[in-house]
Amino acid sequence: MLAAHDGLAMAIAGGSDVLPTMKRRQIEPSRLVGLRGLPELAGLCCEADGTLRIGAGETLATICADPEVARSAPALAAAAASVSTPQLRASGTLGGNVLVDTRCNYYDQTYEWRRALGFCFKKDGDWCPVAPGGHRCWSVSSSDTVPVLIALAASGTLAGPAGSRTLPLEDLYQDDGLAPVRKQRDEILTSILIPRADGLRATYWKLRRRESFDFPILGVAAALDVRGGVVTRARIVLGAVASRPIRATAAEDLLTGGPLTEETIEEAANLAAHPARPLDNTDLEHYWRKRMSRVYVRRALQELAGSGTSPS
Ligand SMILES: Cc1cc2nc3c(=O)[nH]c(=O)nc-3n(C[C@H](O)[C@H](O)[C@H](O)COP(=O)(O)OP(=O)(O)OC[C@H]3O[C@@H](n4cnc5c(N)ncnc54)[C@H](O)[C@@H]3O)c2cc1C
Repeated sequence: MLAAHDGLAMAIAGGSDVLPTMKRRQIEPSRLVGLRGLPELAGLCCEADGTLRIGAGETLATICADPEVARSAPALAAAAASVSTPQLRASGTLGGNVLVDTRCNYYDQTYEWRRALGFCFKKDGDWCPVAPGGHRCWSVSSSDTVPVLIALAASGTLAGPAGSRTLPLEDLYQDDGLAPVRKQRDEILTSILIPRADGLRATYWKLRRRESFDFPILGVAAALDVRGGVVTRARIVLGAVASRPIRATAAEDLLTGGPLTEETIEEAANLAAHPARPLDNTDLEHYWRKRMSRVYVRRALQELAGSGTSPS
């Protein structure tokens, strides 16, 4: 059905992003194709090799409460629990969160507001109010679960008319606010696969104005495997600082192979903040959010080292 309508039909799962954006006329699909009835998108199980397979149609509420997720990927449960409100987590799905649209202060507005300002690249226009001289859309990757899933080296399976493919989740995204996801419009995300933790422990630190509910204006996911006092694996991912989630590879390289001390944590936090380039298009001041990237990476690493606190 998605393939049959010239790219103008759109998949809808919980609808907690699709419906508000339709109301604001940010998207105008010709048809909505409901995914909730598809049994292939349901289910959450641990496979024989320890891989956690989560159907893309499972709700965030299920992920928050599932004992298998709590056991093998507690950081994912925490990230899911930080998404919006209980009502929205009861309808919003993991697949919808992985594919939730990028956001921008100048785009997430009513039709009338956007028309008064002048429509932007993301919909109907030919300029960017955030970077008026530029030629691209800088809307921000705003999913809470994606940084954690990438830190846990998760992959996603997509199914479409041409068959199905599984790819590292990290490869699904590109730094392009207009087309942030490398997915055909007629492809459906069927499941998320999280490899056995094998010693990898993760955490998620989310910055937002209101703790009750708010999209992230910075999300830091860190995962470390520390054996005999030596870091054998490190994965650090920043969300809400660009149009795609950003891996802090320089910080990961610095940590890998060495001890986890206050000094290495500080150095890694400085390196990790480097690729974060928040712009003036989400809540609060962008230069403060840049500074907070360093602070949150440091706190995440300190928590994993056992020398810090947990996120509130
Ligand atoms: C007030 C409010 C607060 C929110 N706060 C947060 C927040 O703090 N953090 C956060 O991350 N999100 C937040 N959200 C966004 C949203 O609720 C979540 O991202 C939710 O997980 C989206 O899931 P859904 O099933 O409702 O997606 P939908 O709205 O149904 O779909 C979202 C997108 O994914 C596509 N899609 C969904 N499932 C599939 C699939 N299986 N295959 C292919 N395409 C698919 C749809 O076509 C659409 O493009 C908020 C939303 C609201 C309204």
